[in-house]
Order: sequence, then C-alpha cells, then structure tokens
Amino acid sequence: MPFKLKLLILLTIFIPVKEASAQVQPFKAIQNYETYYASAKRNTENWLAIRRFDDLGKTWLLLVEPRTLNTIVDEANLYQLKPTMLAEARILFANTAYVNALKAAEKQSATIQDAGIVQAMPKEAGINLTIDLCPSHRVMDRRIFADVFREFAKVEPHPPVAISISGLWMKDHEADLNWLKQQVLDGHIFITWINHTYNHRVDPKKLLKENFLLEPGTNINYEVLETEQAMLRNGLLPSVFFRFPGLVSDAKLLYEITGFGLIPIGSDAWLAKGQKAMPGSIVLIHGNGNEPIGVNDFISLLKSEQKNVAQKQWLLYDLRESLDEEYNR
Ligand SMILES: [Zn+2]
Repeated sequence: MPFKLKLLILLTIFIPVKEASAQVQPFKAIQNYETYYASAKRNTENWLAIRRFDDLGKTWLLLVEPRTLNTIVDEANLYQLKPTMLAEARILFANTAYVNALKAAEKQSATIQDAGIVQAMPKEAGINLTIDLCPSHRVMDRRIFADVFREFAKVEPHPPVAISISGLWMKDHEADLNWLKQQVLDGHIFITWINHTYNHRVDPKKLLKENFLLEPGTNINYEVLETEQAMLRNGLLPSVFFRFPGLVSDAKLLYEITGFGLIPIGSDAWLAKGQKAMPGSIVLIHGNGNEPIGVNDFISLLKSEQKNVAQKQWLLYDLRESLDEEYNR
C-alpha cells in the first residue's frame, strides 16, 4: 500500500470529527443572521465562530475548526465566547490550515478568472470533485452521482464530493435537493456544501470584468449571507468554502470573500473547457443539466480509472482533508 494512502487512512481514523454530518436540522425561523467572529471554547475544543443567528428563541453559531476546516452549527450558550475581529482571529489561529488557506487564496487574488485555491495535495492519485449547481431550468444531472456510487461503492463507503450550491437553484429544485439529502442519509455519499451565491447573475454579452459578481450593483453581503441562510433553512451545513460564479473575480472581490472568513475554491480542471484532471486536481463539472459535455468527460475519466479505483489507487478526496494536508504546517 502506498505510504500516502496509509497516511490518509490513518488520518481518517484519527480525525473522526471530519465524518460529522454535512446536514443539520432545518432552521425555519432564522432572524438576525450576521457575521460574528469570536474564539469559542468548549471543554478542550477551540473553535472560531464566524456567524451568529437566532432561531425560535435560541442563539446559534456557525463555527469552524481551524485545523481540520470542519464546520458545525451549535448553540451559542454552550461556548465560552471571546468576540474578536477576523484579522485578530487570523493571528490567534496562525499556521492552521484555515488561516494558511485564506492566505494562499489571497496570493492568487489578481487573476480575473480562477482565483483562489485551484488544486490540493499534488502528486497524489485521485481528485477533489466539485459539482456546481448554478441556477437552471433543467433538472439535475443525476448520472454523475449514479456513476460515483457504482464505481466507489466497493472501495469507499461514503465517497466525498463538494457541491457548490446557489440560492436560486435551491429555491427551484426542491425534489433534486431532497434526493441529494437522502443520498447522504442513506450513506451513499458525503457532501461538502460550498456557497455559490444566491442570484448567480450572468450576462453572456458582457465582458468578464463587469460580469457575474463584478456586475455593477451586486450586493455581496446579500449574495453570501442569504445563500448561507437558505442552506440552513434547507438543513445543509455551510462549509468555509466559496466558489465564484463563472470563477470570475478581481482582487477587491476576493478580499471581500476572505473578509467573510470564506476560502475561495477555483479549479484547475474545468472538464467542459477541455482542461484535464491531474492528480490532486480540483475538478469542476456542472450538475445543473447545462453542461452535459463536462459530465460525459467525468464519466469517461471514471471509466478510465476503473481499475485503479477498484484497487484504491485512485480516490475521491474530501476537499477539507486535502486542504488540511496541504496547508496545516
Ligand atoms: Zn455557477
């Protein structure tokens, strides 16, 4: 067995917190949802709170474990809280995977397309699969999931995928969303939910520098925080990851996103654009029915790696674990 694989298995055994569920109770009456940064202690655990909200008479926090990039939603009164600014929190949690990944994303801020983190854990066989659910009138492309289940069923109990989800998609695709949630409950898959903004505006006639989130009049506060609330209303646990619509951003926008405590995730292998998946790639396909070419490419990729998958030589990685390995020093 290759050493890296052994290490991965050991990590999986010894960091059980990562297997925590990506689903939470649906919060149906959220009020006062806001950014709120505080170091949050509970027994021996040290979390960083990044959001606070009220629901049915209780105050809740969205917390990140800066070493593992794991998130949870929990009651505020269970924690000893010390409110802080995000900049101070980044000093307090210096050299954790979380802060190192934020810094790495900011280093890649100047590029108009594909800023942020574009690959993780290079030289490793296998990929990080990210599936974008941008607003769409079409039904979700379930072929991706069926193929992942079929190929990985025997070797990996819950193959991890990350799904970038937009607010409008959640609003218009209740049946598909419920199906995804059921796949998680049935143990077929582990999903890391990525914030992909609420409206995900796009105008095919406009230049990139004034398109997507760079379109004049964009309310970034609404795009980020409304999406998180929609996730919570639907019982999805927000991760610390963010994906720019169209992968388009500029430096100012990227810093606004890291200012929300979120790590922008790009892609070095947008399959429908002809980019090839390499070991450690963050692969991007669209699951919203709008990009069947990318899905076909992914299905061929899985087929070509079928033997390696069966021998556990080609794996799907959990984005949190990959970034943890890459940036925890
Ligand atoms: Zn999108």
